[in-house]
Amino acid sequence: MQHSEKVLVLGGTGLVGKALQEIKPDWTYVNSKDANLTYFLETYELLMTHRPTAVINLAARVGGIKDNEEHQGEFFYDNVSMAMNVVECCRSLGIPRLLSALSTCAFPDKLEYYPMYEEDLHKGPPATTNFSYGYAKRMLQVMSKAYNKQYGLDYTCFSPANVYGPGDNFDNDASHFVPACIRKLSSGDKEVEFWGTGNPMRQQLYVGDLAKAIPILLEDHHTDKAIIVTPEANMSIREMVDVVRKVTGSAANISYNGKLDGQFRKDGSNSLFMELAPNFTFTPFEEGVRKTYEWYKT
Ligand code: NAP
Repeated sequence: MQHSEKVLVLGGTGLVGKALQEIKPDWTYVNSKDANLTYFLETYELLMTHRPTAVINLAARVGGIKDNEEHQGEFFYDNVSMAMNVVECCRSLGIPRLLSALSTCAFPDKLEYYPMYEEDLHKGPPATTNFSYGYAKRMLQVMSKAYNKQYGLDYTCFSPANVYGPGDNFDNDASHFVPACIRKLSSGDKEVEFWGTGNPMRQQLYVGDLAKAIPILLEDHHTDKAIIVTPEANMSIREMVDVVRKVTGSAANISYNGKLDGQFRKDGSNSLFMELAPNFTFTPFEEGVRKTYEWYKT
């Protein structure tokens, strides 16, 4: 099925949306200025105006640990209401295809084995630091599955690992680990301190890779599983800091304060995704950091 002529991307001006625009410039990209998706009527009018044949739903209230922890209620309300409005308005307007972004943050905080698989999504609560975001994201998968069952639709979801890349947020309070690390190590400071022990492991997904994956998912992902999109590499914070230090040429003394390590690991398996796209290659972390650093410098 070809959706290319009438694809509408909600949340299309964020980190992921901007990277997708480079690959698919002929799709339509909208954000909260076009419609606040927490309001049903605005969502309905937006979709009625565009009448797409497929919708990619990247819209979400996204934030770092501090923002999530301090605004659990708002993160829940905004993300659940956006999910409900988007799915229900797509259905009531007869839009046959919807592809929505979850996150590996929606998966359980702790499992007895790793990597995690799509089947594990509901096997325990998400991490306490972002439980409301995690549960809200899970509702997208639940609602899409329920709608497929009752209405025979093709509404599916995908779960990216942590995303980084050009266009990322490098602000002090709100930034994720990779941009924060680049900012700190390119600041020229002689002493640079990181939170935690440096031991937790993370998978990092280059935003350009996710942008390449989305059209493939739109075309070929048609199950109720929130398919995990991630490179296999699962690196410790220390290993990642070493890569960023190399790329930025930093000579800083690096220390770890031992506080607030967060989840020890949350690596997902990309086996289902690789079945869909056997020739897909992920950007190695060092190369992705180099591209991100080049963008940050200019
Ligand atoms: P982002 O940079 O924060 O962009 C979010 C987008 O959603 C923006 O276009 C924003 O528009 C729009 N949006 C937010 N609130 C809205 C509202 N009330 N009504 C309409 N639009 C609204 O996020 P991203 O990093 O590109 O993430 C895209 C998707 O991937 C999200 O669903 C996120 O949960 C998921 N994801 C991200 C990561 C990551 O590490 N970044 C990892 C896994 C999954 P405005 O600019 O107008 O507010």
